[in-house]
Amino acid sequence: MTQVLSIAARDKAEILAQALPYIRKFHGKTMVIKYGGNAMTDPELQADFAEDVVLLKLVGINPVVVHGGGPQIEQALNRLGKKGEFIQGMRVTDAETMEVVEWVLAGEVQQDIVGFIHKAGGLAVGLTGRDGGLIRAKKLKMLDSKDPTKEHDVGQVGDIVEISPGVVRALLEDNFIPVVSPIGFGDQNESYNINADVVASKLAEVLQAEKLVLLTNTPGVLDKSGKLLTDLTARQIDALFADGTISGGMLPKISGALDAARAGVNAVHIIDGRVPHAMLLEILTDQAYGTMIRAK
Ligand code: ADP
Ligand code: MG
Repeated sequence: MTQVLSIAARDKAEILAQALPYIRKFHGKTMVIKYGGNAMTDPELQADFAEDVVLLKLVGINPVVVHGGGPQIEQALNRLGKKGEFIQGMRVTDAETMEVVEWVLAGEVQQDIVGFIHKAGGLAVGLTGRDGGLIRAKKLKMLDSKDPTKEHDVGQVGDIVEISPGVVRALLEDNFIPVVSPIGFGDQNESYNINADVVASKLAEVLQAEKLVLLTNTPGVLDKSGKLLTDLTARQIDALFADGTISGGMLPKISGALDAARAGVNAVHIIDGRVPHAMLLEILTDQAYGTMIRAK
């Protein structure tokens, strides 16, 4: 459902002028942006995303990018004759899959994003959770969502123990744009694959970010009939979990988003990364996009 935007010059001027109060409000504030879904596989959308990030930086906002890489990991696994398996939205990660996850995320996807940002005129620095001790993790103990006496072994999927954001802060102070791969490390320096939404949400919380924006491959959270839910409270979310409306990758996304909202991140949005410049429109104009998650 990609929207084609065609606007007259007057409307363009109107939109630019509209940005002023938002630029003033958000100047100096930190925003965590999760970049994932299909928006990451289309080169044109990748370039648009990088331009948006650089524009935010140039108007004085501090963007921090956390990226996913589901489609890219899937492709790499397929080349090795493996197929991804998911339980409750989490990728089952055996040792070989972990190796693939690490090289695809840190070696390929992250560096692609860094490159796109450079092309757009910004300076980005790629990090994994190991850099600067950013993300300490342990093996995730996953209980069955319906029967909590049952436990699933999802291999090297990580549960965040602690985020130490010093390295991110240092980069922001020096005007770099941090690009974080969702890989954590454990007590024995073992690697963990962590859902990128979970990392973005926790990082937003620890940085006390003004906004958390989760870009995905749907218009936002949809109800049973496929209609967009523009606003969600914790109570509504509980109901959507219970009746199965929210499933798969939307599960960690929404629970992370709700945690961030409860922990004081002012605004949490799930928006369609397939719409060119959706993030910019969401942040710098009156137009509301996607789904907003509210703590209460
Ligand atoms: P991302 O790369 O953005 O994290 P995911 O595949 O992990 O993408 O999560 C987004 C997916 O969640 C959607 O493409 C959709 O298939 C699924 N999903 C499950 N429940 C819902 C819902 N209620 N509304 C929208 N998407 C949903
Ligand atoms: Mg996901």
